[in-house]
Amino acid sequence: MRVHALGSAAVHAIGIDIGGTKIAGGVVDELGGIVRFERVPTDANDATAIEAAIVTMIEDLTGGERMPVGVAAPGFIDAGQSTVYYTPNIPWRNEPLRERLEARLGLPVVVDNDANAAGWAEFRFGAGRLVSDMVMITSGTGVGGAVIAGDRLLRGGFGVAGELGHMRVVPDGIPCGCGARGCIEQYGSGRALLRMANEIADVGGIGLGLAAARADYGVLTGDIVGQFIAAGDPGAIHALQELGRYIGAACASLAAVLDPELFVIGGGVSVAGDLLLDPIRESYLANLPARGYHPEAVFVIAELVNDAGVVGAADLARIHSLSR
Ligand SMILES: [Zn+2]
Repeated sequence: MRVHALGSAAVHAIGIDIGGTKIAGGVVDELGGIVRFERVPTDANDATAIEAAIVTMIEDLTGGERMPVGVAAPGFIDAGQSTVYYTPNIPWRNEPLRERLEARLGLPVVVDNDANAAGWAEFRFGAGRLVSDMVMITSGTGVGGAVIAGDRLLRGGFGVAGELGHMRVVPDGIPCGCGARGCIEQYGSGRALLRMANEIADVGGIGLGLAAARADYGVLTGDIVGQFIAAGDPGAIHALQELGRYIGAACASLAAVLDPELFVIGGGVSVAGDLLLDPIRESYLANLPARGYHPEAVFVIAELVNDAGVVGAADLARIHSLSR
């Protein structure tokens, strides 16, 4: 496996990934391998308990050994990898998380956005390990992402670059949780796929299968739509293709700005594989500026499905400790 040359000392590091319902953590080696792993459930409303759980987990994982710590959190983190400006699910507002954890642990800590950490892991050890410029788009409940430009994670001037879910793809479109309208999150997420599947079920025709399932189960769920896609149901496939077309159009805009060699598609929706990649690619090409002359990026599904946040956070911490 090629590993980007960003320091080769054999340093283990801790990666912690804070989710809405659980905290995952691991000791990660310099090749991205998880040496030790833990997971605990959390109450997202209790910031004090979350901090205590993080400290306990890190002390447990290090076993008294000194190693750098990377913490991946959902939300806006400052460019200095220190302060959590805002998390949508946990009540952290302008929280100096790095300072607090360093004081409690006596270990070097960096804090990063969880999507950035997962994208970094994919760049270092997964689908992006052979390129220097890649964009990762994660289509799960929402849409997230990360941008690697010139072998570096793009953080932006304020630390909040790479919020790809809130790129506008439809002027005056569906209102988004962020306060704007027409964000790709409303057209390219798992939630959007469900909405589209329901719309197709309403119309009948190719939606008859979905309509019957909805009548049987009372409501369509992501699992049901996923099963219908896997079974080749034309209505479910049509919904997936529609979703793919929006993501592909967003990728064409991203290509105009960032010119990545590679788009990595991750998240729950990406289990559809080529059924998703094909409409993304088609729409990307149809919307690409200077079509026919613009070099075409490659589209692949993410490789590090589980625990990419843990691996990426640990690697960012390791690299940061080497550069101190
Ligand atoms: Zn938005």
